Amino acid sequence: MKKCPYCFEVLKEGSQKCPFCDQFIIDDLICVDYKSLEKKKCFFCGKRILKESRICKHCHQWLDRVSDASDTYDKIE
Ligand SMILES: [Zn+2]
Ligand SMILES: [Zn+2]
Repeated sequence: MKKCPYCFEVLKEGSQKCPFCDQFIIDDLICVDYKSLEKKKCFFCGKRILKESRICKHCHQWLDRVSDASDTYDKIE
């Protein structure tokens, strides 16, 4: 299946804009053969998002700069 390179939600092949995180797809879609089940909490809004997400599909905040912090936060929970 193809996934959004930003929020890692499943997208249709050829999608130009992700309906989940509202980003235009300027990178290639990620091709995976598994469904992501692991979740983490968004550092900004606290909602559940996929563990691999680089952007929150709820509040559209980029998580790259806090990825280390949110990983630690996830283990504590
Ligand atoms: Zn997305
Ligand atoms: Zn969020």
